[in-house]
Amino acid sequence: MKRYDLICIGGGSGGIATANRAARYGANCAVIEPNALGGTCVNVGCVPKKLLWYAAEHAASSRRAQDYGFDQTTERFDWSAFVGKRQNYIEWLNQRYQQTLTANSVDIIKGSAYFLDNHTINVAGTKLTAEHIVIASGGTPIMPALSGIEHAISSDQFFALTTQPKKIAIIGSGYIAVELACALQVLDSETHLFIRKQRVLGGFDTMLQQALFDSMQQHGIQIHTNSLLIAIQQTDSLNLITSATQSGFDCILVAVGRKPNINALQLTNTDIKLNSDDTILVDDNEKTSVDHIYAIGDVTGKKNLTPVAIAAGRRLAERLYNSANNNALNYENIPTVIFTHPPIATVGLTEQQARVKHGDNLNIYQTQFTPLSQALQRNKLASQMKLITEKTTEKIIGIHLFGEGADEMLQGFATALNMGATKFDFDNTVPIHPTSAEELVTLT
Ligand code: FAD
Repeated sequence: MKRYDLICIGGGSGGIATANRAARYGANCAVIEPNALGGTCVNVGCVPKKLLWYAAEHAASSRRAQDYGFDQTTERFDWSAFVGKRQNYIEWLNQRYQQTLTANSVDIIKGSAYFLDNHTINVAGTKLTAEHIVIASGGTPIMPALSGIEHAISSDQFFALTTQPKKIAIIGSGYIAVELACALQVLDSETHLFIRKQRVLGGFDTMLQQALFDSMQQHGIQIHTNSLLIAIQQTDSLNLITSATQSGFDCILVAVGRKPNINALQLTNTDIKLNSDDTILVDDNEKTSVDHIYAIGDVTGKKNLTPVAIAAGRRLAERLYNSANNNALNYENIPTVIFTHPPIATVGLTEQQARVKHGDNLNIYQTQFTPLSQALQRNKLASQMKLITEKTTEKIIGIHLFGEGADEMLQGFATALNMGATKFDFDNTVPIHPTSAEELVTLT
């Protein structure tokens, strides 16, 4: 049996970060991964998604350029050339991950891991053990068991499409569904979004939900509310059956959520406990119900974002190999961006959450404005911002942004929120003019 100090199951964002950090402190580490290194983020998540977002931004800005006097007569987008270049970039990233792990003397073991007992892992017939085991197996798209579901694709398969969908149905209202819907519409695919209720982005501030809904409609996305997917049929095209039949699609993308990757792990051979949604139960220090086994990232369902998996893994390695104490990751006030067109950025409590926590002891500062960048544009789209403070202290407890530049604007403001900034601190900061960000420090 091969022995290590630390084994990470999963070579995605969390597993790689943990192993690299532990190895730098001298731990003898291995990462087990059946697929390409980098996991969801690099191969079928943040990276291909953000590159698609950039492609759509280029299309949108080239249209805007006409309003600024440029002659932009051709708008042809070569999807397959774009996908090819993106894949080359991803493969370059895969290699970079391999090089860094190798440089840190981390063993990369190809294969799918499962537990034989609390201490023993099996990979393709080889038994492994370690003083510490980290489960970082991530998650997978949920594909509901419906008639004809085999004709639909998940976000994983979407990124492998070599031809651009002409008419696409996207099922779902979460961030993956709305991000892909916006990018495709900007790139001229006829885009239909089918949502179960009447809002998108459940759990987000209502200002953001409404602003995005309105802007998606304004941009031509056809949103079908109160639509429960019943079945998919294939005739000469793909047809979607909800309460009515919608036909003529060449692609149906299901983006209704993700589930943790636990099945292959055979956790019943261990004493690891699960939460009710099958994510792995961990304490504040990412420890499972078994003392030497930890779980980080999407498989814990705490906050499914790449920097969260990385931060949790690095902090764990610091605790295990660098005597760090009290460095547990704080899962509150984690900023996040939805890469729609325009983007959304958010940190802290939504107004709904703030009202539950603080009742009427709140001040809500809100603004809507047309960014100067759109001054010469025919089609204008207002930006919206909301700042929520706790009334007595004016401490900022929520920041919600919708509009051009919101994605790059939030990081610094999120730092300020996490440092306990008040409305006075914001007001006391001289604005940068002319920008959209200045609106956040001049709210009344
Ligand atoms: P993963 O990165 O999923 O890695 C898990 C790895 O474990 C996988 O490579 C898998 O093959 C492997 N594995 C599974 N089972 C086994 C096993 N039995 N044995 C060995 N290996 C196994 N996050 C952001 O922060 N920003 C974004 O913009 C963003 N956009 C996204 C867009 C999409 C379309 C998707 C799907 C996700 C996006 N995310 C984004 C989320 C982000 O990708 C995840 O939060 C992040 O990848 C989680 O990292 P992880 O290490 O927990 O899991």
